[in-house]
Amino acid sequence: MKEFKVFLREDEIPKQWYNIQADLPTPLQPPIHPGTGQPIGPQDLAPVFPMNLIEQEVSQQRWIDIPQEVMEKLLLWRPTPLHRAYALEKALGTPARIYYKNEGVSPPGSHKPNTAIAQAYYNKVFGIKRITTETGAGQWGSALSFACCLFGLECKVYMVRISFDQKPYRRMMMNTWGANCIPSPSKDTNAGRKMLEEYPDCPGSLGLAISEAIEDAVTSKDTRYSLGSVLNHVLMHQTIIGLEAKKQLEKFGEKKVDVVTGCAGGGSNFAGLAFPFVLDKINGANITIIPAEPTSCPTMTRAPFVYDFGDTAATTPLLPMYSLGHTFIPPPIHAGGLRYHGIAPLLSQLIIEGLIEPRAYNQLECYAAAVQWARTEGAIPAPETSHAIAVVIEEAKKAKEEGKEKVILLNWSGHGLMDLGGYDSYFSGKLVDYPLPEDVMQKSLKAIEGLPKPVAMKKGNPA
Ligand SMILES: *Cc1c(COP(=O)(O)O)cnc(C)c1O
Repeated sequence: MKEFKVFLREDEIPKQWYNIQADLPTPLQPPIHPGTGQPIGPQDLAPVFPMNLIEQEVSQQRWIDIPQEVMEKLLLWRPTPLHRAYALEKALGTPARIYYKNEGVSPPGSHKPNTAIAQAYYNKVFGIKRITTETGAGQWGSALSFACCLFGLECKVYMVRISFDQKPYRRMMMNTWGANCIPSPSKDTNAGRKMLEEYPDCPGSLGLAISEAIEDAVTSKDTRYSLGSVLNHVLMHQTIIGLEAKKQLEKFGEKKVDVVTGCAGGGSNFAGLAFPFVLDKINGANITIIPAEPTSCPTMTRAPFVYDFGDTAATTPLLPMYSLGHTFIPPPIHAGGLRYHGIAPLLSQLIIEGLIEPRAYNQLECYAAAVQWARTEGAIPAPETSHAIAVVIEEAKKAKEEGKEKVILLNWSGHGLMDLGGYDSYFSGKLVDYPLPEDVMQKSLKAIEGLPKPVAMKKGNPA
């Protein structure tokens, strides 16, 4: 009998997260204080994040226990199934075996609650009563609202004004889970009021919403801020995906994986699936590990490795990462979660080491891949996820040409049921490709002139 999908028994679910910092061939360069140019210390971050999460951010310990209270919440939808994509394989006529980890089955519909639950828990045990955050299209805001609801915390979400008006359904999800979601710019912060005075009709931006959420957190009692991607602890909370997938592949009888892929906006879902396999690669396994991004926001494939701010308003510490410049305004592609100007420092370092090999795809190719997926495997992927599906199809076709068996593993990061407007635009022929013009990128990179420079350090090449 064919196995279509594999779960795990409760006692087989991983009990620890994997912290790749313990195994990096070259350690990360530290975040830097933009004022002093010196590495920041834990105390600098204390007004923004609870100390227990700051400790995780810098921890070098390889395995970190998942607290029982966190596990109980994760078990609401975990383990997520690992499926074999027989129908897609057949449609492609490929000898490759394609597996996908379905993170779309969580209550908010993506991988994001894996870290939202953990962050809400650590805030709660630290004595925090209220969490603020920003959201673009609403995926992160809905995940954090859900998590705060489970732990009895107040949640305030600053949602980019244009999405607040145009994409009301995720805001309704946030309200259903009891969160307060308001459009940014808002009248609740200095940053918001200043913008509204100048531009009353300002559509907002992610950078401005971050500034509002941080200002709220550092000026309010018992309040901290939460970020849904990019940071080390966030990526670590996602590794339960890859650790589960490894055990599930064994149950399918697979001893070896050839290709591991996921889409990367800030890098968290990709890291979650890939990092346990990067460890195998560090230990000598032959695996091709591919993060996928849009050609319109080509951070990993074209941008330089620099120190840059995490937000558009230049309020965060400087992070060592590939970046298009913090003032980069991405084209209006539908994969909202892949429009970030930077990429996680951990992914950046793995690119420098040659352990992961990023690729970029055009929007139309990604929608074609998503539609082929929906018409074979059934479920409708998020526009972000479609970038990883483009990798799978490319690799499966290559396997066919080479007449080689190959095992491909994909992180299916979320469903697209809240993003059907993008599919509608695709079918009506309104979508176009927006590969980023070189001169636009060079202009955007002016924002990092004068900032400190990191050294691209690699094992055996220390300086
Ligand atoms: C947010 C999101 C992403 C991008 O974020 P990462 O931190 O890079 O994972 C990808 N897919 C889905 C479905 C998302 O909601």
